[in-house]
Amino acid sequence: MRPRTLCIHGDDSDARTVGAPVEAPIITANSFFTTPDAVSFSAVDMKEGAPYSYSRWANPTVDHLERRVAALEGAEAAVCFASGMSAITGLMLTKLKAGDHLIATDVCYAGAAEFIRDGLPRFGIKVTTVDTSDPANVARALTPETRLVYLETPGNPTLRLADISAIARVAHVAGAELCVDSTIATPLATRPISLGADYVIHSLTKYIGGHGDAIGGAVACYRAKAVELRVEALIHHGGVLNPMAAWLIGRGLETLTVRMREHEINARRVAEYLSKHARVRSVYWPGLPSHPQHELARRQMQNFSGVLSFVADRDGAALAKRLADRLRVFSYAFSLGSTKSLCCYLPTEDLLRTSFRLTGTNAIAYRNWAGDGVFRVSVGLEDADDLIADLDQAMR
Ligand SMILES: *Cc1c(COP(=O)(O)O)cnc(C)c1O
Repeated sequence: MRPRTLCIHGDDSDARTVGAPVEAPIITANSFFTTPDAVSFSAVDMKEGAPYSYSRWANPTVDHLERRVAALEGAEAAVCFASGMSAITGLMLTKLKAGDHLIATDVCYAGAAEFIRDGLPRFGIKVTTVDTSDPANVARALTPETRLVYLETPGNPTLRLADISAIARVAHVAGAELCVDSTIATPLATRPISLGADYVIHSLTKYIGGHGDAIGGAVACYRAKAVELRVEALIHHGGVLNPMAAWLIGRGLETLTVRMREHEINARRVAEYLSKHARVRSVYWPGLPSHPQHELARRQMQNFSGVLSFVADRDGAALAKRLADRLRVFSYAFSLGSTKSLCCYLPTEDLLRTSFRLTGTNAIAYRNWAGDGVFRVSVGLEDADDLIADLDQAMR
């Protein structure tokens, strides 16, 4: 089935039984299930397809969502987590041990950036952060100890891209695995597994859930790797997705195709409006020909998504205050991928000090891109004319 059909049907083999409900209506909220007496108690002996026993191992409602996410990513399997961050930390703490080396993008979701810089070194894991918009930077940073390369494309908040297949090639030659946070792209735009990635991460909180009402995360990957992740990151670390949230996210997923199409249409309108605005120095959206990596975006993304960023011509902080006070259709809020339009300001010196801590040429590259601060805009599904009118009155 094609992605558009997969969003609706995914895995509904159960619903084909006569008399079964056509929608996936059942939330199996149960924490435990009765088990035959021969079931092993330890996760160490976990067998795939074992009967349900405890919802930290597996839960029918969460399983159903995992099969749907896997199908959309063209992956053998997926593992759901309590949040995008627990997917990221779960993967890293399962794959990496003391002495191992991680190469990570120098600019990404702030929670991931801080965990990579502060959390992992406490366990003796070595980290190098590089600007992954040039695969040569990754190639140069590889060492015999490198186990994992971590990308986010498009990256938050800069909308910088990374060339997944080029980086997969250099990582694999060096014996490292590649992990891609594809939250902003969604599986409708990019399927990183087909480009050579080993793991795809989603914050299901964002586009896949899509309605700002549930937090969740997922890792899509090959089956054997999913079993390893389930044992260590779910059964032992314990960050499982709640079945209620899984059901909400699965319901959101059904409309992903139509939402992404409209997000893209609206984002293009807002990006073109901002590009001509006197108070705006630059607009970054992968679908704009002016995006420095537009050619890569056209190759790697079948939908340019609804997140854009822009830099003010001067005094971003003053403009941020104005937007927070005056926007009426947009909400001034820190998230993305919702039906509602959101906007927030990320001051450069603050981010460089707290989340990114860039120095030397990396700091220069970031300042060149981000000026004194980046406005991150998640364009929602409202009428684009209302969104533009709202920005127009607020920025005047
Ligand atoms: C939001 C986000 C995360 C973290 O996800 P949560 O569900 O909030 O934990 C990770 N990566 C990206 C790109 C995000 O936008």
